[in-house]
Amino acid sequence: MYQKLKGTYDVLPHESDFFRWIGNEIDHVARLYGYKEIQFPIIEYANLFQRGVGESSDIVVKKEMYVFEDRGNRLVALRPEGTAGAVRLYIENTLHMYGYTQRLFYAGPMFRAENPQAGRYRQFTQFGFELIGDASPEADVELILINHELVKRLGITDVTLYINSIGCRECRPAYQQKLTAYLGEHKQELCEDCQTRLSLNPLRVLDCKKTSCQAVVRQAPLQYQHLCEPCSTHFETVKNSLSSLEVTFLIDPYLVRGLDYYNRTVFEFKSASLGAQSTFSAGGRYDYLVRDLGGMDTPASGFAMGMERLAMVVEASTGKKRTQYYHPPFVYVAGVGENLSLAVWQALRLLREEGFSATTEFRYTQLKKHLKAADRLGAPYALLLGEDEIQKGKWTLRNLQTGEQFQEIPAEIVAFLRAKK
Ligand SMILES: [Zn+2]
Ligand SMILES: [Zn+2]
Repeated sequence: MYQKLKGTYDVLPHESDFFRWIGNEIDHVARLYGYKEIQFPIIEYANLFQRGVGESSDIVVKKEMYVFEDRGNRLVALRPEGTAGAVRLYIENTLHMYGYTQRLFYAGPMFRAENPQAGRYRQFTQFGFELIGDASPEADVELILINHELVKRLGITDVTLYINSIGCRECRPAYQQKLTAYLGEHKQELCEDCQTRLSLNPLRVLDCKKTSCQAVVRQAPLQYQHLCEPCSTHFETVKNSLSSLEVTFLIDPYLVRGLDYYNRTVFEFKSASLGAQSTFSAGGRYDYLVRDLGGMDTPASGFAMGMERLAMVVEASTGKKRTQYYHPPFVYVAGVGENLSLAVWQALRLLREEGFSATTEFRYTQLKKHLKAADRLGAPYALLLGEDEIQKGKWTLRNLQTGEQFQEIPAEIVAFLRAKK
C-alpha cells in the first residue's frame, strides 16, 4: 500500500470542479487586467532561488528548499515560489524588447519542505501576478485592485487589506541601524529564530508571531516613520489612490515580507472568515530583483496567492463546501437490453457534438442498474434506449429529479436539453 508524501494532497473527482472554478476566475481576472500567462519550469538551478529569494529568507535559512544534485552533478531545486522564475524568464528571454512594461501571470505547483499546517502544504499551488517595468505607485494600486476583484468574484468576506512601506536601499540602512541597535538592547528577550534574524535581516523580527518578540517589537522604531522623500511620496500616492477608489485599508507598520527583495509598498489580504485572521494573498514591490538576478535596472511589483489557503477561505466565507461545486455529467445514456452498443455510441456522439456532457456504463443492460449509476453520478437526465426506441427512431428522456419522461426524435430531445442547460 503506497501513501502520498507528508505535506502533499490529492484532489478527488468530486472536488476538482471547485479548484477549477477558482482557477478559472483567476484566469478571467488576469485577462480583464491584460496580464499574459507565462509558464516556466518547476525545476531550476538552485542558485537562482538562493539569490532570488534572499539568503536571509526562511526558505534559505530554514532549508525549506528541495535541493539536490541531478545526474550531471548540477545543483538544482524545486521552485519554492514563482517570482524568481518569472524574473529569470523575463531576463533570459529579453522580454523588455517586446515592451518595457510586462504584465505577467502564472499558476502552478511550488515546493517547500516546511512543517505542514492548515492550508499549508509542501507541494502547493500558487497563482502570481507580476507587473515588471513600472515604478509608479499606480502599479502597486493596480495589483491591489486585482485582488479586490478576485475577492468579489470568489465571494470572500471579512476581508482586510493591510499595507506598509518598507523603504528602499537609500532609507533602509539608517532605519535598520536604529532598529538593530534597539533590538540588540533587547536580544535576550527575543526568540532563537529572531536572534539569528537579528544579524541577517532584523526587519524579519518585526513579523515574528511569538508574544515575547511582539512585546519587544511594539516599542521598536518603525520604517514608515523613517522613509526618504521619494519613498514617502510613493507611499502617500498609494494611500491616496486607494482612498479615492474607495478601497479601504489599514496600515500595518509591522508588515514586512518574508522575501527580502521587496521594497516600498508591501501588502497582505486577510480574511477573518476562518476565525483567526488568515492571509490569503501577499505581495509588494521588488525594484531590485531584476538587477540582482543579472538583468537591467527594472522596477517591478507583484503578488501571489496560494490555492489551498484561498480554497479554505472561500469555503468558510461562502458556507459552501468544495463538493458543492461538482458538475455531474448532464445526460446519462442507458442502453436497456442486449446488443445496443451501436445505438448507445451514436446517442453519445450526437449529444457530445451538441456540447452536452454525456456518459454511460457499458457493462449494464438493466434499467435499474443504469438508474443507480446515473444517481451515483448526479446526472439530471437519463436517455433511455431500448428495442422500442430503436424501432421508432426516437429517444426516451427521463428527468431524474421528477421521474417525468417523454419520447421524441433526437433533434427534439436535443432542443429540449439545450433549453434546460
Ligand atoms: Zn527610501
Ligand atoms: Zn521571534
